[in-house]
Parts: sequence; C-alpha cells; structure tokens
Amino acid sequence: MCKVSELKSAALQSQSLLSKLFRHEQAVYAQASQSAACMAAHHVVALLCRWLFRARDLAGSDNLQFTHKFLAEMLRVKRTSVTLHARTLQQAGIIKYSRGRIQITDVEAMQETVCECYGSVKSYYQALLGPQQV
Ligand SMILES: [Zn+2]
Repeated sequence: MCKVSELKSAALQSQSLLSKLFRHEQAVYAQASQSAACMAAHHVVALLCRWLFRARDLAGSDNLQFTHKFLAEMLRVKRTSVTLHARTLQQAGIIKYSRGRIQITDVEAMQETVCECYGSVKSYYQALLGPQQV
C-alpha cells in the first residue's frame, strides 16, 4: 500500500502509470454502470452468480467466504432471497455453502446461469487493462 501523495507524484512522473490509472478509472465506472443496470434488469440468481464470479476472479479461488447477509447487502435484496437462490444453486450442484463458506463446484453450469453483464464487464476490463488485471 502506498500513500495517495506518493501515488499522485509517481503518476505525474510516469505517462504509463497515469494512463493505466485513467484506464482503471474507466473500467470501474463501466462496472458501476453495468452493475446498476444489471440489478434493475436481471434475476437475483443471475446477480448472485455474477457477484460470485467477480469475487472468484479477484480472489483467484473457487472458495469464498461470504455470509448470506453480506451477499444480500451487496445485491440489495433480502437475505431470504439469497438463501433461497443459494439453495437452488447448491441443489443444482453449482455451489456448496456452509456457514459463510461458498465453494463454486461447477464453473460451466454457473456460466450458463450468470447474466451477460459479467462477461461484458470482464471483457471491458481486459480490453482496458490487460487479461491479468481482471
Ligand atoms: Zn446482469
């Protein structure tokens, strides 16, 4: 971690770093816009899959630690809705969950369930920042 003043100073001395920061800002803005549209238009189970896939990308692991309460807050839905859809995903063999631990057990099946927003944002990130930055 570095201080904001150090990052600002480094960015002003490096066109490459400044460019990357601008591209990252664009990607974050695009993700926020897509996320808002997704939450308004797509089913909760698709949102849950999108969120789990994004967390999987960031964590670099199929094993995640999220409570239903936390996921409900992130998705802006009732906890009971997360519990219902997590149960559906578990019964389909797509995830396993227990006491705040979620394991994605069938990535291909989850890809069929997630809405197109996940792939759209991921492609945008890759285009702006490169494949290793998703
Ligand atoms: Zn969506």
